[in-house]
Amino acid sequence: MIQEIQDTLKKHWGFDQLRPLQSEIIQSVLHKKDTLAVLSTGAGKSLCYQLPALLLPGVCVVVSPLVALMEDQLTELKTKGVKALGLFGPMSEDTLVQRLDNISYGDYKIVFMAPERLQNPLVSNRLAHIELSFLAVDEAHCISQWGHDFRPSYRSIGTFRALMNKLPILALTATATPKVVEDIHSNLLLNDAQEFIGPVVRTALSIKRHYHVNKDLLLDIALKQNVQKCILIYVRSRSKAEKLSHQLKTEGYDCSYYHAGLSPEEKSKRLKYFTTAIHPIMVCTSAFGMGIDRQDVRLVVHYDIPESLEQYYQEIGRAGRDQENATALLISEEERILGFAETASESYPTVDQLYDIYKKLVGLFQIAAGEHPDQTYTLGLSESAHKAGIKPRDWYLGIRSLEKYGILQFGETTKKEWLITFEPSGFGNKDQGDDDLLFRALSQKFHDSKHPTFRYRFTSLKMLKAAESAAKRSKIKLIPTTDIYTIHWAVPREDQFVKKLLRTHHQPYIELRQDHANKMQDFLENQNQCAMQLIAEHFGQETKACGICDFCTASIVTQEDLLRFCSTPRSFMDFISTFDCSPQHLKILLGELESEGIIAVNHEAKFYSK
Ligand SMILES: [Zn+2]
Repeated sequence: MIQEIQDTLKKHWGFDQLRPLQSEIIQSVLHKKDTLAVLSTGAGKSLCYQLPALLLPGVCVVVSPLVALMEDQLTELKTKGVKALGLFGPMSEDTLVQRLDNISYGDYKIVFMAPERLQNPLVSNRLAHIELSFLAVDEAHCISQWGHDFRPSYRSIGTFRALMNKLPILALTATATPKVVEDIHSNLLLNDAQEFIGPVVRTALSIKRHYHVNKDLLLDIALKQNVQKCILIYVRSRSKAEKLSHQLKTEGYDCSYYHAGLSPEEKSKRLKYFTTAIHPIMVCTSAFGMGIDRQDVRLVVHYDIPESLEQYYQEIGRAGRDQENATALLISEEERILGFAETASESYPTVDQLYDIYKKLVGLFQIAAGEHPDQTYTLGLSESAHKAGIKPRDWYLGIRSLEKYGILQFGETTKKEWLITFEPSGFGNKDQGDDDLLFRALSQKFHDSKHPTFRYRFTSLKMLKAAESAAKRSKIKLIPTTDIYTIHWAVPREDQFVKKLLRTHHQPYIELRQDHANKMQDFLENQNQCAMQLIAEHFGQETKACGICDFCTASIVTQEDLLRFCSTPRSFMDFISTFDCSPQHLKILLGELESEGIIAVNHEAKFYSK
């Protein structure tokens, strides 16, 4: 069997060797055992299901929560010559049946599926009659309401599995606390499962938590200390990603930004920059990172405090995958640390607010009780928020929550639409070239529409260029509508069902988020223990002090060093940029020296030794 594994690995992946634990996991799956694997980011999780899927007879069903991730995997598998198919995203019943036929007769090895699809009896009935090799559950922590990314639709996997007559299961995740591991076992109905849990500790990763009134100064120092290195900067919102990237550009840094709201073209352009530039700086939201294979990220900065330790751990895991030294730097204003957990709950709607948003949405689309519309709706975010009398941000977060509970599918603004208005003189005389091309493409729309203004989505860049050129010559008016989203209802309208669902899941969710925020704050505030140890403890593992985090290295800087340094007057910033030590610790040391009367502060706010 080992030889078979080696040959397949060489043939399709071109590798000679598996990484630690991969071989054990793959063998367990090949022996048709239920298997649970917790492997940190970059440890090669996907290979653990892809390789056995090739070796076993039948089709492997992979359940994953993220369409983007499944798309990436599909593309990657195709380049490796593996027959794989996707059953995710909105599709008509005809298309669904056609794809199921393909799975039955098409010699496929891997099928990717969103968990919602397993609830569809059409799908489960057909799959029951197809030879399946095993069921792989990616991001298995999503099944646990104690995890940082709970998705109720994941609970349907257990029901599906019960129907599938002892189909072996492989549950994969990068992060799982003991409580989450327990939840995965019970919800996926794992039977006598083999468990493989990789170490949480990253030996060459130095964790630093730096606080100061002005975190931009801290960022500036970090970037200057890490010139010509590959850097990731995590922020919490899309607008901040854009703003900070712009700011850094004006300061002369070569950088880009990434978030879920970009068009597919923009995403792939920015991804290409990150994977090919020698020393890229990427400002991004948590949407960036999964499935990205860059080994030499030297610095991961958290410009904002992450929502949970799990998320934080996952993101810092993207640094130093080549096992070389790397730094994870979290910067924050001091006062944000103290109020972090307290303000965390404010960013989530309550159960009643969420139900209200749901009612306003079904009202907006005029969906009758019991009705399950087939079509995908378009939603102008600010316009509809205004109509609903709800702040756009709350409206957006509410709809996102409804998506999380499997009520609807919410399309990001990847499909950018434009408002086009024909000018009276517009296309009276048919021109040649671009104008004619544009006119032919739009004429149908133009004739169908009672008004000369309509929404249009350009499917090719050439067409968009033609339209821009026509707009320049005042033949049409062209206005981008950047806040257009799509909504597809995943379930029929049943108000009582939704109300119950929200009560059962959303209230515990809010409480859990609070718990995550409390734990994050503990981690931020605890300056009396090794940071890596704190993280390992959170994941139920024990480890010795790392020796390279902010706590472990605090004693390296002595009062004598500081004293020597300020033999000429120095500002606090001079200290921060010179000593490898957290600003808050420096402040304590300098405070002690000052109160002992050894140093003093002059009129320029500079420290000097007396
Ligand atoms: Zn340490």
